[in-house]
Amino acid sequence: MTALNVLLIGSGGREHALAWKLSQSPLVRKIFVCPGNGGTSLEPKTVNVDLSPSDFPALVDFALRNEVSLVLPGPEQPLVDGIETHFRKVGIPVFGPSALAARMEGSKAFSKAFMDRHNIPTAKFKVFQASEVDHAIQYVRNCGFKVVLKASGLAAGKGVLLPETVEDAIAGLKEIMVDNVFGSAGSEVVVEELLTGPEVSVLAFADGYTITPLPAAQDHKRIGEGDTGPNTGGMGAYAPAPIATPEVMDRIVKEVLQPTISGMRKEGFPFVGLLFTGLMLTEDGPKVLEYNVRFGDPETEALVLLLDPSTDLAAVLLACAERRLDSVEVKVRQGFGVSVVLASQGYPGSYAKGKEITVGQLPADVVAFHAGTSTVGGKTVTSGGRVLCVSAYAPTLREALDAAYAGISNVTFEGKVFRRDIAHRALSAQTESSKGLTYA
Ligand code: AMP
Repeated sequence: MTALNVLLIGSGGREHALAWKLSQSPLVRKIFVCPGNGGTSLEPKTVNVDLSPSDFPALVDFALRNEVSLVLPGPEQPLVDGIETHFRKVGIPVFGPSALAARMEGSKAFSKAFMDRHNIPTAKFKVFQASEVDHAIQYVRNCGFKVVLKASGLAAGKGVLLPETVEDAIAGLKEIMVDNVFGSAGSEVVVEELLTGPEVSVLAFADGYTITPLPAAQDHKRIGEGDTGPNTGGMGAYAPAPIATPEVMDRIVKEVLQPTISGMRKEGFPFVGLLFTGLMLTEDGPKVLEYNVRFGDPETEALVLLLDPSTDLAAVLLACAERRLDSVEVKVRQGFGVSVVLASQGYPGSYAKGKEITVGQLPADVVAFHAGTSTVGGKTVTSGGRVLCVSAYAPTLREALDAAYAGISNVTFEGKVFRRDIAHRALSAQTESSKGLTYA
């Protein structure tokens, strides 16, 4: 096989983690990261290219001039906006879904209707247009269950309200449908039943026919320890989540992932790329909360370390893009991957930028992935809320966490904040199971 030049689109910790793993592939000659961050340019074979992820003609032009033979869009927006078609037209394979398939993330109303058609377990729901606020209020009053309100469109990880009372729910409907707090993302609203149970995320490679899941991950959305305070883009993650026992994973594959992949293919928009399914493990079994059509952040930073060193990520992505995932092996190491996000003081509110970052020596199996960093005058400085993600792999969860936190002490920048309780749910579950309790 000829050497691959990869075009990786994005600038977060997820993209650095993907660049790190891809650079280890003997198949890969060069990785162009558009626009990248202060860390993506440091990996062997990587180079940052100052192009906007939304400028598709410029990206295609660059790819053609630089013999790119695989495109990997990191974030959802370019996928929802149809980046795949632009590259398909010039014959360059993309690891990522078409715009039609990306509707599974781009429109919650669409994905809920899809699940309904294919009997994929999910919360009961009803969809309303913004003009139907009175009907939506009526529904919330009479449905007989506690509700969750979701702006249907992309809302940058926001767009979901969890009202405590019917009055709060009605106020929330007005905020979304009348005051447009989520902009055009709220022009359609999904009102669904509140589910309870632990949440897991399952990231899976798909080639339109075959789907190969990675171990289930759990993330920490809130800024504060004990899962308190405002929501963030994610403060840490770990995998495998012990709650997702082999039996639970088996149900997720049979009841959710396989019907999703075959349903999408049968309806004419096969899914190629990384399907990220957020699930609630309810008393009635796993139920889908949402689909994302790309790698998650910070789950990816933990999962890349769980991939066995013999697993060539470039070969896996290319196999998906060429509809032959069954021809490659996705081997996962025994043990645990964890990722802990280092944020700027003040995040997710306002925070200072431009603080110099130093990353000291890190042991094997501990990696500092950059997110909101940039290079200024030869120095690496903070440029975002989530600055870096320190990830670690070890045979046990405790060891992986200890290694990640030891790594964090070697990273300095003014205003560094992070959660010290990543994976607390799994650790307390382990304590409970050692007391003879089960948590399946
Ligand atoms: P989503 O973007 O749809 O995954 O929603 C964001 C978060 O809201 C999820 O990670 C859950 O914590 C919560 N959530 C979403 N849907 C529900 C639901 N039906 N019941 C309870 N919590 C939910």
